[in-house]
Amino acid sequence: MIEPDILIVGAGFAGLYMLHSARKLGLSARVIEAGQDVGGTWYWNRYPGARCDVESFSYSYSFSEELQQDWTWSHRYATQPEILSYARHVADRFDLRKDISFGMRVTSATWNEERLRWQVETDKGQSFAARFLVMATGCLSVPKVPDLPHLEDFRGQVLHTAKWPEQGVDFTGRKVGLVGTGSSAIQSIPIIAREAGHLTVFQRTANFSVPAWNAPVSPAQDRDVKQNYKALRAKGRATHAGDIADEGYVAILGLDEKAREAAFETCWAQGGFSFQYAYSDLMVSEEANRLAADFVRRKIRETVRDPKTAERLCPRDHPLGSKRLCVDTDYYETYNRPNVSLVDLRDEPIERFTPGGLKTSAGQHDFDTLVLATGFDAMTGALTAFDIRGANGMQLRDAWAGGPAAYLGIAVAGFPNFFVITGPGSPSVLASVLLAIEQHVEWLSGLLNHAQTNGIMRIEADRAAQAGWTKRVAKGAEKTLFTKGNSWYLGSNVPGKPRVFMPFADGFCVYEKICNDIAAEGYSGFHLARDLEIAR
Ligand code: NAP
Repeated sequence: MIEPDILIVGAGFAGLYMLHSARKLGLSARVIEAGQDVGGTWYWNRYPGARCDVESFSYSYSFSEELQQDWTWSHRYATQPEILSYARHVADRFDLRKDISFGMRVTSATWNEERLRWQVETDKGQSFAARFLVMATGCLSVPKVPDLPHLEDFRGQVLHTAKWPEQGVDFTGRKVGLVGTGSSAIQSIPIIAREAGHLTVFQRTANFSVPAWNAPVSPAQDRDVKQNYKALRAKGRATHAGDIADEGYVAILGLDEKAREAAFETCWAQGGFSFQYAYSDLMVSEEANRLAADFVRRKIRETVRDPKTAERLCPRDHPLGSKRLCVDTDYYETYNRPNVSLVDLRDEPIERFTPGGLKTSAGQHDFDTLVLATGFDAMTGALTAFDIRGANGMQLRDAWAGGPAAYLGIAVAGFPNFFVITGPGSPSVLASVLLAIEQHVEWLSGLLNHAQTNGIMRIEADRAAQAGWTKRVAKGAEKTLFTKGNSWYLGSNVPGKPRVFMPFADGFCVYEKICNDIAAEGYSGFHLARDLEIAR
């Protein structure tokens, strides 16, 4: 039995930084990682075209000045292999690997009130008893294969974007069917289309996508960012999106038609999430959102030559941004290729899979390779995948049967000494996630340090404080248009999952201030107990 101070689940960016921070506090730590290497989401998501659609200068750690000065990003948006080498570099640079058990999965975690430790079992038979359990399992780490009728009848190869074979897939000459039009699909479709004999995309919901305008980082740009990193990072921390891009400087409804078109064109030309960040009213005013959505629909019609296909690709049933905005390179252009066709599953629903493809209400579609770009059981999937039993034997999945509740999105009432990095109820996926991770790890390190110095052995979120926080998260989301689309933010993609908007929507800067105030108040909303107090 190994008895570390902290057991961390996951060696993605959250787990790596948590390990590094635990060591700095003088705590012993062990990381359990199912993959054979570090990287988390960037280890598993190797599909063609996988790259980060948040800009590299934002999607990178800021905690080490030496690291950010030494590392050079090749492109505005880094590819999956480049991000994975960055994660490996971080692991080696800070000598993290020696405290990580690779190829091992946690199967259960049970709170032992007498020992004030988490008893953790793994699939390799190795047991741990840790004072603190930190879930660094990621928000998008449990791939979702939907219930597709008679999928088992299909004889060809079935791939999921989030479980891509390490050796890659050669699509040359293949007939490919691809289900989904979210970020993973929108990144992979243009690349697969270039290789495949034919690609048929099966779309259920058309999504909004804006151009990435990806490009190499020039030496001058690299120099400039490195000289100004400190200021840029501080700027990012002061924004709602936690991103170094400018935000909220234009109210769409405050502009006349000419100025509005010019503003949209400017953002379109900048590319990426600036299209969402720029406007103060985009996610709160239906009218402002419709104007922006109309602009994107016009761009789709200008790009896609076949008018019928263009109409199918125009999203109509949700506000722009309410399902996560996609950022692409040549996505809409790909539908001008003669070897690509689009099937709208709203017009012709899937009846069943067949040995050679699938049959919709309109007829048979043949393919020999199926790509499922069907997403994840987001935000809670990894936390409810195995048995986590807190005080009084309560299971986390039972505690969350009506939807997740976590104080500050980091701690759960009834689950002492248990913490979630970027959990539901924190900005997480609505912020630049590397910064969201850093903020959580640093705040939690402050709490653990406070516990160390004050002899605190047991930390638990107060139930009433948690209920208040959950209400606040819901209220924040209700003020926005985020709740108006069927998105994974709401759990809509998982049948039976309670419809709860999971991320904190009021903004990263607002959230960080609340966390800091709570720390300054001596961690209000937490029960902090010394060993002796518990014994009494
Ligand atoms: P996703 O956004 O959830 O998209 C899944 C797609 O599969 C949707 O188009 C969905 O349609 C479709 N689908 C699901 N079940 C279906 C069914 N039974 N029949 C037909 N279609 C079905 O998943 P994702 O594309 O993997 O992306 C998830 C998130 O991961 C992103 O939003 C993003 O946050 C993150 N991501 C990030 C990057 C990056 O560059 N940083 C890249 C990829 C992914 P409906 O919309 O109708 O449900």
